[in-house]
Amino acid sequence: MTQTLSSEFDDLRTALSGRVIAPGDPDYDQARAVWNAEIDRRPSVIARRTSTTDVAAALGWAARHSQPVSVRGGAHNVAGTSVADDALMIDLSLMREVVVDPEARRARVGGGALLADLDAAAQAHGLAVPVGVIGHTGVAGITLGGGMGWLTRKHGLTTDNLVSAEVVLADGRIVHASADEHPDLFWALRGGGGNFGVVTGFEFTLHPVHPMVEFALLFWPLEQGTEVLRLARDVLADLPDELNIIVGALNAPPEPFVPEEHHFAPGYALLVTGFGADVGTEHARLVARLRDALPPLFDMAAPMPYVALQQMLDEANAWGSHAYVKNTYITGLSDPVIGVMTEHVPRKTSPTSLVLIYPLDGAYSSVGEDETAFGGGRSPRSIVFIVGYTPDPEVLPAERAWVREFHSAMAPLGIGRETYVNELPEPDDDKQLRDAYGREKYERLARVKADYDPGNVFNSNTNIKPA
Ligand SMILES: Cc1cc2nc3c(=O)[nH]c(=O)nc-3n(C[C@H](O)[C@H](O)[C@H](O)COP(=O)(O)OP(=O)(O)OC[C@H]3O[C@@H](n4cnc5c(N)ncnc54)[C@H](O)[C@@H]3O)c2cc1C
Repeated sequence: MTQTLSSEFDDLRTALSGRVIAPGDPDYDQARAVWNAEIDRRPSVIARRTSTTDVAAALGWAARHSQPVSVRGGAHNVAGTSVADDALMIDLSLMREVVVDPEARRARVGGGALLADLDAAAQAHGLAVPVGVIGHTGVAGITLGGGMGWLTRKHGLTTDNLVSAEVVLADGRIVHASADEHPDLFWALRGGGGNFGVVTGFEFTLHPVHPMVEFALLFWPLEQGTEVLRLARDVLADLPDELNIIVGALNAPPEPFVPEEHHFAPGYALLVTGFGADVGTEHARLVARLRDALPPLFDMAAPMPYVALQQMLDEANAWGSHAYVKNTYITGLSDPVIGVMTEHVPRKTSPTSLVLIYPLDGAYSSVGEDETAFGGGRSPRSIVFIVGYTPDPEVLPAERAWVREFHSAMAPLGIGRETYVNELPEPDDDKQLRDAYGREKYERLARVKADYDPGNVFNSNTNIKPA
C-alpha cells in the first residue's frame, strides 16, 4: 500500500497547510515515536495539523485512499494507540495554544496541548483545571478518558470540567459539542476516549488555585510497608479536600534532600499537598501527625509553585522508558490490599518501577454516575497504578510479569471489574473494555459511536464498536 500511495502524498500536501512527513523524511522516526519506547510502529504517513480544516482535509484524504487513521495528542498512551502501522497519523502536536478568559474563568485549549501548557496559561491568572501529575501528558487523551491528579478531590476529573469541544467527525463535518449542542456526543466525549472524532479544541471551566502549594514528602524503608499503609489509611479517612496524599511505593530519588546512603533505596512514600492561601497550618499539622506516628527515614517539606508541583515528576517519567502499566480501583487501603502491596512491591526488579495510589473522593464523587461516560464508578475510592518502567528493553519482560502478577493478586480486591481506560495496556481487549465501562454505559457509548462514526474510522484507541 505504501508504494501505491507515494504519489498521493503530493495530493495530501496540497490539501493541507500543515506538514506531511513520509517514510524516508529525516524526521519520520522522531515524528512516529511515542512516550513508551516499547512502541515501534510505522505509519504510512504523518500529517501534522495546524488547523481544524486541515484535520477535515486529512480525514477526507484517508477516506479516499482507504487509509486507517490514528490520532496523536501528547503521545503518552502507554499502549501507543496514537500510532498505528500503515495508517495515516493525524498529529496535533503543534496545536498547543491555550487562551484564558480570567473573567469568565474559561480556557480554550488546542487539541495537541500538553498539561504544562494549560497549567502555565491558567496559573498566570491564579486559575487551574484539575489534570494529571505529569506535565508532558496530552490534554486531549487525558480529558477524553477521565483525568485524575492532585486536584481531583477538590475539583473533580479533567473531563468533569469540560464545557464544550470542537470535533471533526469521521465524515469531515466540524461540530461543536456541549450540554446544548450534540449533547449525546458531549456525554460520550467525557470518558469515551478518542472514539467519536478528532477534538481540535477543548473549552474548560477554571478554578481559583493559589500559585503556591504546600508540599511534603516522607519516606520509609520497605520493611515498614504495613505501618505506612495503615497510617495512610487512617489519615485519608478524614482528609479535607484542600489536602491530598498520593501514596507511592518507589525507590528514593537521588535528590539533594535525600541522604546519599538512601539514594535508590526501595520503600514507601507519602506525597502530601495542601492547596489554598490559608492551608499552611493544616498541612504542617498533618505532616507532623505523620512524622510523630511513624518517624520516616527522611522527609522534606517546602512550599512550591503549583506549576512546579505539576512538573515535579516529569523527569522521572521522561520519554524513552519501556513501560507496562495496569490499574485497579479499590475502596481503600484494607488489610488484604496492604497484604498484596507488601507482598508484591519488593518483587520488582527495576528501580524505576513503582506503584502510585491516588485517592478519588470529594468532588470526584459529587458527579453522577451517568452524567458523563467516564468508566469508573463515582463512589469514594482510590486507584492503584502498578507501573513497570525501565530504560532497558531487556528488563521489560520481567517488569511486565511483575505488573501482571501484582495486578492479578490485587484485582479480586478491586471494585467490580472496573478499570481506568486511560491506562489499559491491551486496548484491543474488548472484554476488558466492556468491564471497564459496565454493560449499560458501554451499550450507550456504542449507540453514540454508531451515530457519529458508524464505519469505526477512529479505531486506534480503546475501541468502542458501533452498535
Ligand atoms: C507517565 C504517565 C503519567 C500519567 N499520569 C496520569 C495521571 O496523573 N492522571 C491520569 O488521569 N492519567 C495519567 N496518565 C494516562 C494518560 O491519561 C493517558 O496516557 C492519555 O491517553 C494521554 O493522553 P495523550 O494525549 O498524551 O495521549 P495520546 O497517546 O496522544 O493519545 C491517546 C489516545 O487519545 C486519543 N486522542 C488523542 N488526542 C486526540 C484528539 N485531539 N482528538 C481525539 N482523540 C484524541 C486517541 O484515541 C489516541 O489514541 C499518564 C500516562 C503516562 C504515560
